[in-house]
Amino acid sequence: MAQFLWRLDGAIEQLHRDGWQQGFTLHLLFQSLSTIIVRRDDQTRHYLALEGCPMCRPDGCDRMCHRMLFAQLIRTTLSGVVLTPAVRLPSRATETRQVLAVPQRNDAQLLDATFLAQWTEGRLVSTWSRLRATPQPITVGVRLAVSADGPDLVRALRTLGWRALPLASLLSRRAQQADVPPPAAVGARASETLFAAFRDPQHLVPSQLLATEEV
Ligand SMILES: [Zn+2]
Repeated sequence: MAQFLWRLDGAIEQLHRDGWQQGFTLHLLFQSLSTIIVRRDDQTRHYLALEGCPMCRPDGCDRMCHRMLFAQLIRTTLSGVVLTPAVRLPSRATETRQVLAVPQRNDAQLLDATFLAQWTEGRLVSTWSRLRATPQPITVGVRLAVSADGPDLVRALRTLGWRALPLASLLSRRAQQADVPPPAAVGARASETLFAAFRDPQHLVPSQLLATEEV
């Protein structure tokens, strides 16, 4: 199924937290979801990659598919946030170090824009599986590419409870050349705390929640 990319702009002016959490959970029962954080020239941008239906085009869909429903969820529960379709998100030659990683410890923390800010350039793709009614309800894995400056990748991940996987260099070459970053093809169980952090809309649009009014 084709992956479609959306850039998240704007600020959350009104947060309907209950509606957001219910809709978000419902979405995950049907589809996996990738969040992408890109850091370039000291600027951080946030993207979402969603699976489209067979009728989807980059600019929309004729039907109410899960991708369109997710866009509607953002419009109705995170008002002020704007989704803009993005066709390409090519990697940069400066992203020289890459790994795939999964949460290792139960206290693994969410890898977010603050984590990525340890390097001047980088790209973090976090892929969350569908939510299932099993002892392992949701899994998550990341593909991380960063510039040559900043701390050692493996150690930085370990500090937050994540484990880098050894196959990364082989798997990531094709991923690096794709127009739309493909999902991270790895995953391990996410703890309840980690999943709760992911469901917080602050994770999607982090720096702009200061003026938020909850309703
Ligand atoms: Zn569609």
